[in-house]
Amino acid sequence: MPRKIIHLDLDAFFCAVEESHDPSLRGKAFAVGGKPEERGVVASCSYAARARGVRSAMPMGRAISLCPDLQIVSAKHHLYSEASKKVMALLKDVTPLLEQISVDEAFLDVSDLPETAQTIGKRLQAQIKSELDLSSSVGIATNKLVAKIANDVGKKAVQRGISPFATTIVPEGQESNFLSPLPVEMLWGVGPKTAQKLAETGIYKIGEIANLPEKEMSRRFGKHGRDLSRHARGIDTRPVTTEREVKSISQETTFLRDISDDEKLEKTLRTLTMKVARRLRKADLAGKTVKLKIRWSDFTTLTRQKTLPTMTDSEAEIIEAALSLLKKLRPPGKPVRLIGVGVSGLGPPLRQLSLWEEGAKKSRELENILDELHERFGESIIQRGSKAKKEKNS
Ligand SMILES: [Mg+2]
Repeated sequence: MPRKIIHLDLDAFFCAVEESHDPSLRGKAFAVGGKPEERGVVASCSYAARARGVRSAMPMGRAISLCPDLQIVSAKHHLYSEASKKVMALLKDVTPLLEQISVDEAFLDVSDLPETAQTIGKRLQAQIKSELDLSSSVGIATNKLVAKIANDVGKKAVQRGISPFATTIVPEGQESNFLSPLPVEMLWGVGPKTAQKLAETGIYKIGEIANLPEKEMSRRFGKHGRDLSRHARGIDTRPVTTEREVKSISQETTFLRDISDDEKLEKTLRTLTMKVARRLRKADLAGKTVKLKIRWSDFTTLTRQKTLPTMTDSEAEIIEAALSLLKKLRPPGKPVRLIGVGVSGLGPPLRQLSLWEEGAKKSRELENILDELHERFGESIIQRGSKAKKEKNS
């Protein structure tokens, strides 16, 4: 029996929420994001703005040069997450086989329901529109890969300047035909590097991958090549997974002006690390790998990681690893545009403490108290004595 998979994606989600909040924005060219003088980036843009060339992830300065009357709205994340929860609750009423993949996107497996996926999808779109005043699009297919790509294609095909509210269906047996003329970049797992490598051998379309023997793709790209070969033929057996695992926790910041001051950079890294450690403890997680991300003035971005001997959620251990990575990666005084720190390889923290680890326990208790204080009073209110001392020494 073929599966019935729906991919549902809200249309210009942040902007749609902003329009409900402030109806005077309706139909206008506006973008949610940071100000250009703060090197802001477009997080979401209205369809009127898209029609004039504005795109998400574009620097706000560039967006304004394309669309000088663009209105900039600063993000109200609490409103977005509230709206997102309401949408996901509606979806969950349809089936518990729901996989949320981002704040405004989810897969539903409706194979076991008597109605067609099309009926269910259209009803959901109508319901989300009438109850939450949000436009959404759906892609329907026999697997996640094709449902998602169908939705991407359907949304793009709709007339520019309006919410797509699209329903795109790929019937069973048509998966490979549907994918064939599309550019390889639309396949999951094809980033700029793979696309480049494929282009070097004259492959630009998904169908051209599908025409190559699977063995040939494996030879060129390893296991990844085998997956690509199958995906290009529209084969994807991955299930809709209800519990989405958190893979990493990270924080980063882009500076208003590039930072060359070593001390200031280190201080920023400490603040980011504190936030990461706090989020780990709040989620009751610890991690084994610490990752440092750096972007230089010329936009080159590097990441380096270090695996620790044991799982940790301790600020002190994470910062130690992050600082050693920073020292290896950056010559003193080199200007930095962005810095970030993250922890991956997540799992439950080790809670067994032997007697002589009492010290660790004390320090954990202290960190928990500090977390609480920071949450109540903000970042700068309180600092640990040892941290202040360390900063002076290093
Ligand atoms: Mg969306």
